[in-house]
Amino acid sequence: MTSIDFKKMENSPAPLLRAENLFKAYKEAKGGASEVLRGAQFSLYPGESASLVGVSGSGKSTLLYCLGLLENLDSGTLFFKGKAVNGLSAQKKAEFRLKNLGFIFQFHHLIPELTALENVFLPCEIAGREDLKSEAAGLLKKVGLEGKEKRFPWQLSGGEQQRVAVARALANRPPLLLTDEATGNLDPKRAHEILDLLLSMCSELGTTLLSVTHDDSSARRYKRRFGLQEGQIWDLS
Ligand code: ADP
Ligand code: MG
Repeated sequence: MTSIDFKKMENSPAPLLRAENLFKAYKEAKGGASEVLRGAQFSLYPGESASLVGVSGSGKSTLLYCLGLLENLDSGTLFFKGKAVNGLSAQKKAEFRLKNLGFIFQFHHLIPELTALENVFLPCEIAGREDLKSEAAGLLKKVGLEGKEKRFPWQLSGGEQQRVAVARALANRPPLLLTDEATGNLDPKRAHEILDLLLSMCSELGTTLLSVTHDDSSARRYKRRFGLQEGQIWDLS
């Protein structure tokens, strides 16, 4: 394991995402605080796919929530395309997420009252990007759901639901996709199918991908691998 060297090499591209010296602790009920992130730092370059592994409770989800501006950091800076984003107002953070980030979680979080297609359209509607809808409908076909667009989530299998979540996460064409155990509740065959899909779609669309996983064989399929241990990030590539 080597710790990550930040010194930017001459002529290397600028990172899409750069985390510098992130600290995050949760207050404990009995007093005191448990420090989860303790100086975590890394850079992710445009178009890269990276996995993040670590034992349960090591802080992978916390890191992902902080990167997605869903949780506040105690200190440290997050740069996106060179601009610090963690100090933005709540409103600006929401706008930033809508424009720049896609999320996929272990459980699909599809809206039960909406069909597969309506779920995929939702981010376009929230962002006022009606122009992206036809492409979003194409994404649903690409994930293998042609003919099932009008089904509700409960009329789809677990794997199919997660495919809808993949299409929805990419509907706004975000530069960065963050996934947290996205295949964690699927059987190994389905999990690998979804991973194939995720990697090929991100590569085709040029989307930068950071995936939390606890599965080493999945983690090895990414171009870069990071490990989270004792609140710090290690480059395992
Ligand atoms: P992982 O995703 O690697 O399993 P988490 O980021 O979920 O790890 O959790 C890291 C640590 O932070 C754990 O000890 C967990 O109990 C604690 N933790 C996570 N979220 C919260 C929260 N909202 N409030 C308090 N403690 C939390
Ligand atoms: Mg987690």
